[in-house]
Order: sequence, then structure tokens, then C-alpha cells
Amino acid sequence: MMKAIILGLAIAILGAPAAMAHGGGCRKNSPPGQCCHMDNSTGVVHCHY
Ligand SMILES: [Zn+2]
Repeated sequence: MMKAIILGLAIAILGAPAAMAHGGGCRKNSPPGQCCHMDNSTGVVHCHY
């Protein structure tokens, strides 16, 4: 539930193009099949599929 809220927030902030990675690398604790990292400009952690 919390994860969905965070993801939705990130998508809302980013304008949805979650398919596009933008550097910074993936966190080691990212879920399988996803790449999570901190957006330096917003300070929000989000994930890419
Ligand atoms: Zn990203």
C-alpha cells in the first residue's frame, strides 16, 4: 500500500515516463525486475520497471 502511494507520487511528479532511466544507478535493495534510485532534483526515491 505504502509502496503504491510512493510510486504513484513519483509518477505524478515525473509525468509518467518511468520507462526511462536517468542515471544514478540502481539501489541494491531494488525489487527484482525494478531499478529504484533517488532523484537528486526532488529527493524522491522511485523505481523503473
Ligand atoms: Zn529514475
